[in-house]
Amino acid sequence: MKYAFPVPSTPAVPIAGTNQYFPVRRIYCVGRNYAEHAREMGVDPNREPPFFFTKPADAVVPNGAEVPYPLSTQNFHHEIELVVAVGKAGVELRPESSLEHVFGYAVGIDLTRRDLQLAARDKGRPWDAGKAFDRSAPISAIHRAEQIGHPVSGSIWLKVNDAVKQSADLKDLLWPVADVLVHLSRLFALEPGDLIFTGTPAGVGPLVSGDRVSGGVSGVDEISIRIA
Ligand code: MN
Repeated sequence: MKYAFPVPSTPAVPIAGTNQYFPVRRIYCVGRNYAEHAREMGVDPNREPPFFFTKPADAVVPNGAEVPYPLSTQNFHHEIELVVAVGKAGVELRPESSLEHVFGYAVGIDLTRRDLQLAARDKGRPWDAGKAFDRSAPISAIHRAEQIGHPVSGSIWLKVNDAVKQSADLKDLLWPVADVLVHLSRLFALEPGDLIFTGTPAGVGPLVSGDRVSGGVSGVDEISIRIA
């Protein structure tokens, strides 16, 4: 195959404790998966099936990196999230066995141009401009499930310049990871290399240039970035 220009490198995330990388195929994200966050976004939480949006694979940003303040926003938000790394292909997974498709877990920040997202939402338009922009998916190393298990409870938190902004517990996920995999795999064939951002708890808010952002999920990892 002769390409017209150099092929971009495959986006990849380090696998903790190894010299290997997890090649990223797709990034899926769950919307409104904590009740308190749904309320702060002006929406009634309910048990309707979870909904999904995506980010491009090359939106991943390594732990510790600088993230430039993005284009075309005056309301740039943080959303701390547990991230699932898929290691085994499957469709229409069943809840009792869906976790077998998990390679591991990481901590991610679903960076959001909230002004663009809400403008799109209110007009019934796609969320891409609000969610799927360049460098919108900072993520920690991936920790293999065979080493850390499948986290179902424990703190999830985020600080901006040492002030706690988000603090919740994984057990408050409206749709736990096993159920997220069931629903997502009814819509798309899951493949190794897929990442799933599982949703953010309440406390989302704005970032400005110079902010130091740190966060973590108990039993998984911590992440920090700086807004340039
Ligand atoms: Mn999110």
